[in-house]
Amino acid sequence: MTDNSSDWSTEAIPVVPAARTEPAGTATDDRPAVPAQPARLRTVAEQLARVLEATGSIGSIQLALLDAQGLLLAEEVIADAPLPGFDNAAMDGYAVRAVDLKQASETQPITLPVVGDVLAGARSVSGMGPGLCMRIMTGAPVPPGADAVIPLEHTDRGVARVAIHRAVRSGECVRRAGEDLAAGALALAPGAVLGPPQIALLAAVGHDRVMVQPRPRVVVISTGSELVDVGKQAGFGEVSDSNSYMLAAAARDAGADAYRVGIVPDDHARLLDVLDSQLSRADLIITSGGVSMGAFDIVKEALSQIGTVEFTKIAMQPGSPQGFGTLGRERTPIFCLPGNPVSALVSFEVFVRPAIRKLLGKRNVHRQTIQAIALERMDSPEGKRQFRRGRLQREPDGRYSVSLIGGHGSHLVAALAASNCLVVIEEDVTEVVPGSRVTVQPLMLAQR
Ligand code: AMP
Ligand code: MG
Repeated sequence: MTDNSSDWSTEAIPVVPAARTEPAGTATDDRPAVPAQPARLRTVAEQLARVLEATGSIGSIQLALLDAQGLLLAEEVIADAPLPGFDNAAMDGYAVRAVDLKQASETQPITLPVVGDVLAGARSVSGMGPGLCMRIMTGAPVPPGADAVIPLEHTDRGVARVAIHRAVRSGECVRRAGEDLAAGALALAPGAVLGPPQIALLAAVGHDRVMVQPRPRVVVISTGSELVDVGKQAGFGEVSDSNSYMLAAAARDAGADAYRVGIVPDDHARLLDVLDSQLSRADLIITSGGVSMGAFDIVKEALSQIGTVEFTKIAMQPGSPQGFGTLGRERTPIFCLPGNPVSALVSFEVFVRPAIRKLLGKRNVHRQTIQAIALERMDSPEGKRQFRRGRLQREPDGRYSVSLIGGHGSHLVAALAASNCLVVIEEDVTEVVPGSRVTVQPLMLAQR
């Protein structure tokens, strides 16, 4: 792409300093050579901190109530009217005055004339004099003059006259206007998560649209000249593009709206063109492939030059090579993940998912981890955080246990699909012995 006026090649401002590419100890210009030392890799925690710092927020938008499900409220919602809106019956029965029934008992019922019926939805109700009662349905307005509802089961269910077998308290079985929320009271505060109960409340106070933190729009791009889209038979040397489906699904699972752009071959100009055209609709971009040291690792080559995307090695396994930075005026975060499917998913879980959760406005952006008993020996390279695929299960005693699924290979998609968690082995741990505790990050990638 040669158009210098393009949105991001001219305007982007680096958020993270460009990668230091020369190895420690390399002599440049006239500085004396320092003995070469193995460069310390950036830790997962350090990279994650950079990612979260560079990930901003998205402006709030107004959505129809059901489209807001799962999102965070971005406004204060006040109840304009009391909730309930009027005194109404909590049970099917008879609206009465408690004083009229003081002496009523099982053996000495009191009989009252029934002067009318009040149905749910009655728009007006006439008053009720002393010594009278009205048959009333649940949710119907309590007639002026009545102060209690006696449920049907304590009566003989009479139509013209009714025998009542017990006394009632004033206010019994009456839902008071405003007892849930007074007029002018705060119904929901900004930041409330809109689950079904909160959506019910918004509907109850008459809001059919609400301001929310929207779902981030996540654009997913696969790179690699060997890739073919699913549905097309992969010939010799070709590989079905599973990453764009996996990452789009993972982005949706994290709460984003995912746009799967599909495959871009290993070609600088094509990649830059696609990024340029996708930028306007993206709140976050994910690429996979092309970030290693190979001669055709074009994502790294093309985006390193832009200066706002840094490619670095992280002390983790799998998923060590990572690209992260921002593109364009809006500083849209871009994650350039390694191409091996397991590496890509681990990278997504570790770096991208928290960023998506931050864009959603979530206070806690991390998945919950669980301590589980290792059912087998697990080893891990010193100084790297290792993520193994595992099967987490609940033992009869209530504790969790975990065993490994598949080997180290980060191409093992079937093993990935058979797992339900990542086993996280910290940097300073080189061996987990059977029976000891290990940290597990459940994946549960089956929700929206
Ligand atoms: P790369 O990171 O581009 O060097 O790719 C590493 C490995 O992952 C190679 O074997 C690729 O064929 C494979 N790979 C890359 N992208 C995808 C993809 N979208 N779907 C499935 N496999 C992929
Ligand atoms: Mg590749």
